[in-house]
Amino acid sequence: MTDRILEFLRNRREDGPCLVVDLEVVRDNYAAFARALPDTRVFYAVKANPDPRVLELLAALGSCFDTASVVEIEQALAAGASPDRISFGNTIKKERDIARAYALGVRLFAVDCEAEVEKIARAAPGSKVFCRMLCGGAGAEWPLSRKFGCAVEMAPRVLEHAHRLGLVAFGLSFHVGSQQRNPYMWDAALKASAAIFRDLADRGIVLQMVNLGGGFPTRYLKSVPAVKAYAQAILRSLHKHFGNHIPETIIEPGRGMVGNAGVIEAEVVLISRKSDDDEVKWVYLDIGKFNGLAETMDEMIRYPIRTAFDGDETAPCVLAGPSCDSVDVLYEKEPYFLPISLEIGSKVLIEGTGAYTTTYSSVGFNGFPPLKSYVI
Ligand SMILES: *Cc1c(COP(=O)(O)O)cnc(C)c1O
Repeated sequence: MTDRILEFLRNRREDGPCLVVDLEVVRDNYAAFARALPDTRVFYAVKANPDPRVLELLAALGSCFDTASVVEIEQALAAGASPDRISFGNTIKKERDIARAYALGVRLFAVDCEAEVEKIARAAPGSKVFCRMLCGGAGAEWPLSRKFGCAVEMAPRVLEHAHRLGLVAFGLSFHVGSQQRNPYMWDAALKASAAIFRDLADRGIVLQMVNLGGGFPTRYLKSVPAVKAYAQAILRSLHKHFGNHIPETIIEPGRGMVGNAGVIEAEVVLISRKSDDDEVKWVYLDIGKFNGLAETMDEMIRYPIRTAFDGDETAPCVLAGPSCDSVDVLYEKEPYFLPISLEIGSKVLIEGTGAYTTTYSSVGFNGFPPLKSYVI
């Protein structure tokens, strides 16, 4: 929460829930990554928040971009990034999208199987590819474990196939899971990476790059280690496993770059009880799973919520969104403690919402408009 955001909200015309992103915070976050890992290139994960002003700022600061679709590539280009600063990091791509990316100048692609390598060899000949490996995701609040990546044993075969088809077998990637609270989770994947570097070098294929992925957390209710702690742990693991032959590295922060830059202002629509002896009040907001707070799925991300009544006595509440879908409940298994003085019509501020909110908002379920966003 910054004074600039509070000032903006004081002056805005009332028009439903909105996200306000403070670019100064994004600038500070970029600087923290660049300072902590000076030899590592930053590829901002566009999906976290593709607002043009966010992308333009990061492009101007020298960031590169991790994209997952042609539209995201176009957004990065429009923000001022040259194609050599863009990677097509999704392992699941249509061949015609690969061709389109290639035509736009992109030459760096993620793969996790031989079939994807073949698409790239056909549609983006001579490009660099890196192979995504499976990574456990333990310690992450939003794990990404199964869908992307191949088993560590399979990665050399995938990269050999790329080499044979005239692509540049460029390196390896992994993602330790989003909102990763343990800075030491990169170690096992770096150990496996170093073994693959050696294995392929013996076969005449010299890999150059390790993509350390995202996972850098933002502060929600619990405190998290600083970027510096992650950088120190990663550098120590790089030295331990690669010795004097440290490869080129890149990181792909999404949440860690923009999460704490955003605050959502929302309104209490209704407070009620389900029966006379119900211990827990139901508090309904004008924002829910379908218009910005999708990451409350399975109650995985617990956002800090501030009200004008903070400091008053609190009581456990079920927190729910406004739509007519019963899955649109934010916190119920673990009720949320809110001030008992909170009233219908009160404003609430939901912190840490700069990442994965506007992009996860539906186009208008139940007639509730997509989450509005202001960048200041
Ligand atoms: C989503 C994603 C990221 C960003 O992850 P965060 O945990 O938000 O930093 C990075 N890399 C890839 C390939 C992704 O899909």
